[in-house]
Amino acid sequence: MTVPETLVPGVPPWPARDGLRITGVRSITTAPGGIPLVVVRVDTNEPGLYGLGCATFTQRHTAVAAYVDNHLERLVLGRHPADIEDITRSAHYSSYWRHGPVGNNALSGLDMALWDIAGKRAGMPVYELLGGKVRAAAATYVHAAAATIPETLDVARDFMEQGWTHVRLQVGQPGLGTYGAPGSLGGHPKAPNRDGWDVRHYLRTTPDLFAAARAELGDAVELLHDVHSRLTPKEAVILARSLEPYRLFFLEDVLAPEYFDRLPEVREASPVPIAVGELLTSLPEAVRVVRTGGVDLIRCHISAIGGLTPARKLTVLCELLGVKTAWHSPADVSPVGAAANVALDVTTPAFGIQEGHVYPESVHEVFPGTLRITDGWIRPNEAPGWGIEIDEKAAAKYPAGLAGHDEWAITVRAPDGSIQAP
Ligand code: MG
Repeated sequence: MTVPETLVPGVPPWPARDGLRITGVRSITTAPGGIPLVVVRVDTNEPGLYGLGCATFTQRHTAVAAYVDNHLERLVLGRHPADIEDITRSAHYSSYWRHGPVGNNALSGLDMALWDIAGKRAGMPVYELLGGKVRAAAATYVHAAAATIPETLDVARDFMEQGWTHVRLQVGQPGLGTYGAPGSLGGHPKAPNRDGWDVRHYLRTTPDLFAAARAELGDAVELLHDVHSRLTPKEAVILARSLEPYRLFFLEDVLAPEYFDRLPEVREASPVPIAVGELLTSLPEAVRVVRTGGVDLIRCHISAIGGLTPARKLTVLCELLGVKTAWHSPADVSPVGAAANVALDVTTPAFGIQEGHVYPESVHEVFPGTLRITDGWIRPNEAPGWGIEIDEKAAAKYPAGLAGHDEWAITVRAPDGSIQAP
């Protein structure tokens, strides 16, 4: 069959405005902080002009890397890198099956790299391409977690002394801990699974953590909590109501994504703001949650919904519907993804809060230009694009392994032995 020239990958049916072309697309996987990070590098025929994008799905990083290297590059070689919308849309439709986290993270790597190139060509940071700042900096929140309530409050106090005004609190439990906080081995000595996670204990004791926090940390600090998807809709309402006196800034991920159709009823009954979204894996899913009234603060892992281009569209929808943003950004977002979050944060009226992660120096070594948090605030780089480079020699010193999340997730079981959403 003769393929029309306009359907050959790399040749759109319009003339490129100049001779700039994409000459390479490849994945780079590295674990300088101990957690596999995937970034995509897009090279061009202009010497020194390249872009970086975040494609980090840490739990399945080899699948994302294969998607980028085996499928994406051939679609875009020879394209002019300015056609971001067309390149990412055509790559999105080319697989026919779509909307999964592997494909969308791969697309995000390509998408953010093209925005990086666009910024470098214009001599502007990406936030200026998005319309410019509406705020000087983004407030961040940090994670305070420990085995006991007094220890958790000590950690929170340390953060407050460093300038943070928003702190997420998690405290340990008998058996398996609440997400982010340690548990105690053998915590349920008479149960079939002595190290299980006990929802009854969790619901009974979590208000004690926040009562102590308000009593000891005062009223000025904003308090947050992450359930990490471990409740039923009714349990979520019970927890939210029990936390009402402590004026949470948000209560995160009360439901697993399998039950997101019930988010509107949970939010309707909740006296505290509901934050959700890090497990959404496509723009249409995120739009559905926002449109149907299931969320007060949307917190996508923006590479999992396809990158900056779809996240920018979602941000506008949030602005128009009165929903705030709180993008996912712990250790399993690369510094490039974190910079994309901040570019959105400082350019939208819909900004709510930014999850903050203090990267170890090994990450700064691999990714020069990684953003730093100062007194609880984060600011975008002023250099063109993301203002972040990659030192591939340094990256190679930190190879990514497969162990980690899988091994932990399969231990997240109740005292009766049944598997739980981790
Ligand atoms: Mg979370």
